[in-house]
Parts: sequence; structure tokens; C-alpha cells
Amino acid sequence: MIGDGVGYNHYAAANYYLGTASQVQERFPVRLAMAHSPAKAGEYTAGNPASNYYVPGYNPAKAWTDTAYLKHNFSESAAAATAMATGVKTYNGSIGMSVDHDSLVNLVQWAKAAGKSAGVVTTVEFAHATPAGFVAHNLWRGNYARIAAEMLIDSRCDVIMGCGNPMYDNNGNPVTGKWNNTKYVVDSGFWSQFVAGSGSRVSFELNGKIKKVQDVDGDRKPDSWTVIHSVDDFRALQSGKTPKRVLGCPEVFETLQQERTGQQGETMDSEPYTTPFNKSVPTLPEMIGGALNVLDNNPKGFFVMIEGGAPDWASHSNQKGRLIEELTGFFDGVNTVIDWVDKNSSWDETLLVVTGDHETGFLWGSQPFIPITDNGKGKLPGMVFFTKEHSNSLVPFFARGAGSELFNNDADEHDSIRGPFIQNTEIAQLIHFLWPNKTKH
Ligand SMILES: [Zn+2]
Repeated sequence: MIGDGVGYNHYAAANYYLGTASQVQERFPVRLAMAHSPAKAGEYTAGNPASNYYVPGYNPAKAWTDTAYLKHNFSESAAAATAMATGVKTYNGSIGMSVDHDSLVNLVQWAKAAGKSAGVVTTVEFAHATPAGFVAHNLWRGNYARIAAEMLIDSRCDVIMGCGNPMYDNNGNPVTGKWNNTKYVVDSGFWSQFVAGSGSRVSFELNGKIKKVQDVDGDRKPDSWTVIHSVDDFRALQSGKTPKRVLGCPEVFETLQQERTGQQGETMDSEPYTTPFNKSVPTLPEMIGGALNVLDNNPKGFFVMIEGGAPDWASHSNQKGRLIEELTGFFDGVNTVIDWVDKNSSWDETLLVVTGDHETGFLWGSQPFIPITDNGKGKLPGMVFFTKEHSNSLVPFFARGAGSELFNNDADEHDSIRGPFIQNTEIAQLIHFLWPNKTKH
């Protein structure tokens, strides 16, 4: 589970607002910090690949004396997701590609090779950097249409859930006359075929070619996607029998909630919930409940990456209230997963990792390195965003369950304030190590 952009002070801010000493994951047996520097910073784009340059990794000696250091050469979500999904550091903007532009094997592919089910769930577009980094391979995160096509046609995912629905706006209202941008769902022609073919169709026309979807269960026959979008369909998926493969694309454009239009007078400093939530979309816990109900059909188990995507977006926009909303939603999702493991699995067979991909906003109290102040439950804490970008600050890393104690073994670097830390690449490396490496078809 990845809180996009969620650092230590994001936890502090949410805990003060919620009037709680800690989140349940902060009491997990494994509590470490995680470094997330990319191999190459700047940002690779199709138009300017030379803007990428090698950078040294996180330096604990500089981190607490030089705020400028933390505000430069940070990772973005694509490189961070690729590192967590493949075990290899890469350049900013990469989706599953190495610095040499070679394709890397990710945890979804490893899970499928081990006969497990696999999926991704996010509160932002399903083809956005974090879920894409766990499924797809593309030189640049901005090639959304190609990434979406790879996720839906070429991947063996059993579940994909996320926004990007071109038929709705950011308030969850249907757009009439013309669609919103269709790039997050390939294009309008493909999306029409895909939705109409829900539950049955296995070949689609893509860029003038006929392409078949993949086989997810090893019987060598392509498996059709069942497409759901209404909030009722998401809720119904949480219990009972499920389709084999589900694409869940809620009735909203970019994010479940964070991009909804603010009511008149709402500012960056407004309290959370000033503007009522979009009602026609599921919550992250509801999406998780449905995703797990599909993924747990496989007796060999599953891998899933669940992202609270919009703490990053709220932090980029320096929106204090909406940051609290998004963090609360992500933490609710963590509790949903913990309840699911308690009821349907056990901590002897399931590993749960909760972390962030990087820090966004360089969030502190009145000055960098001055703590956030607690103004009491239900009141915005005293906090300041010192950038609209990401920072290189270490992020919290929590793990519980099967094999989790081995992360302590990987934490062989030390930060004077945050303590022992791992590299983001060590997540995929350890999970891959824990899985049986004999495949059987
Ligand atoms: Zn960001």
C-alpha cells in the first residue's frame, strides 16, 4: 500500500487532526524509514530526454543541515514505482524501464509467473505513474494511452481499479456532447468497444490491428474483462461470487475526490470537508473490498498494489484540508486490508507493506525541521508546505506479516533522526525472494 507523497509529517498532520496518537501501521512490528532517490533525476520526457542526469543517493549527513539538498534531485512517482515494483533504480519518468531503456520484470509479472493473481488499485487514474509502474513498460509516464493499452491488453492483471473515466467530470457528473480526454483509457474508439464488450469480448481493434487480451488463469485462453463503473457495482463486488477479471473505473475523471470543484470561498487553508464529497463514486475501502474479493479466488494467493494517489496531488497544490481528507481515506484503506487479513487470511501467510513513494510538499511546522504543531482534534495543525514539488526526505515504511521481519535485515543504512532505513528497491527484492521460484503452468 502506497500513500503517494506521504512522508513523516503527513502522518503527524493527520494524527493531530484525527486526535489519535498513531495509525495502526505505525504500531506494526516492522517500522523503518525508506529512501527513494532515483538513479537519474530531472525528468525524462519524450521531447527532452537529455534533461535526465545521474544523481547520488540519499545522503543522511546532508539531509538535516541543507534544506536545498532535500529539495533537489528527488524522485517522482514513476521512477519510485518502478524501483518498488522491479527492485531496480531508474530515471525519473520511467515506467518499468531501466536507465539503459531495457524492460524490467515487475511484481505483477513475477506474481503471475508464480501462478498467483495480481492487480492494482488507485484513487487516481489507473494508467497514472504509480499503478503503471507496477504493470507496464514505457520510456515515459506521459504516454498514458499506450500505458493504458498495455495494462488492459498485454498485462495479465486480474484486477485494475482507478479513475480516468472520460464520460464524467471531476465532480462525478456525466459530460454530455463531448467526452473528457480519453488518453487515460487509450482512446474513444477503444473505450467504446471495451465497455460494450464487458464480460465477453476478447479481441479489440487497436491502432489498426486486432489485439487479444491475455490469459490470466493459465488455461491458454484469453480472459475477457468485466468493466464496472457505478458505485452500486463497486459495492456489490465486495461480497459473493465475482467475475474472473475486473476493470473498475469509477464515474469520475481524474481522482475520486481531490479534484472536485471547491465551494466558493474554499482556499488552500480551508478545513477538510468544506465542500461535500462526490457521492457517485466508491470510497477507497469499497474499491479494496471488491478487488480483494476477486483476487482471493486464487488458492495460490495474490499480489496487489493499492495506492492512495491524491495526498500527492493535495500536497502539490498545498491544500491543507484536502490533504487531511486524502490521508484519512488512505488510512481507512489500510484498516480495510488489515480487517480482511484478520478475517480471510492470516499474518502467517500474508505480508502487508505500507509506505510512501516520496515526500511531497516538504511539509513542516513554521520552518523546515521545526515540528508541526497540534491545534487539537478536528482543527488543522500548524503546518507549512515549503515547496509545491517533491522532496528527498525519507518516508515511513511499515510492514507486518509473513517475512516482514526480513526488512530489518535490509535496513543497513542509518539516518540520525529517522533511524535505520531501506532503499525502495528492497521491497521488490524481498517479496521476490519470499515467493516460491518454481513455476508450474
Ligand atoms: Zn507528485
